[in-house]
Amino acid sequence: MTKIESQLQLVQERIQVACQAAKRPASDVRLLAVSKTFSSAVVSLAYAAGQSAFGENYIQEAVQKITDLQHLPIEWHCIGPIQSNKSRLVAEHFAWVHTIDRLKIAQRLSEQRPAHLPALQVCIQVNADGGSSKSGVPPSEVLALAQAVASMPRMRLRGLMCIPEPAPDFAAACAVFTSVRALFDTLNLNGLGLDTLSMGMSADLEAAIASGSTLVRVGSAIFGERSYPG
Ligand SMILES: *Cc1c(COP(=O)(O)O)cnc(C)c1O
Repeated sequence: MTKIESQLQLVQERIQVACQAAKRPASDVRLLAVSKTFSSAVVSLAYAAGQSAFGENYIQEAVQKITDLQHLPIEWHCIGPIQSNKSRLVAEHFAWVHTIDRLKIAQRLSEQRPAHLPALQVCIQVNADGGSSKSGVPPSEVLALAQAVASMPRMRLRGLMCIPEPAPDFAAACAVFTSVRALFDTLNLNGLGLDTLSMGMSADLEAAIASGSTLVRVGSAIFGERSYPG
């Protein structure tokens, strides 16, 4: 077994145990492998080990990998910040975008999504803990943005995403994730029909799953430490 295979297996086991603890079926939670900073060759090893959804932060780096690996039916997710001048690349190359944080970017993606591709699957990024270092929409502004995005052509609003600051303990992590879950429930009470809560990373996926996450974004626990930050 390769190192990546065994690490992937360990992460799947963590997800299963966390789902059991939360009395949720393991099929509730998808694993997104975050491959930023790792090469196309490493991504194809993970693909060979059964992983088919990958998350990338840096658009230029991602487009290179997507091009290298276009022979594989990989589902690519953009999980990094999007500058206006990169929105076209995102609209043309990714299946999902988790980091919608303003109307203007959503409008650009909607206009730029090529007609031959399926609708872009998107999540709104929520600034759940008021952390100043991470972007995201303040909770009070999420409903209005969600309603706007849901009505845009070529876009399918799937849910919410958050990247909280590291929490001191499990309970504190759960408190932040649960507040995003509550916002998600509110949006659904408003008829938005969302099915995706993109929350949890290598360090906090158990707390995220306990709080209702349906998609965890895991990098270092699968691929090892990254050699440059991000
Ligand atoms: C890098 C990154 C991850 C993965 O982080 P790990 O701690 O390596 O699991 C998840 N989500 C986002 C948005 C990231 O930038």
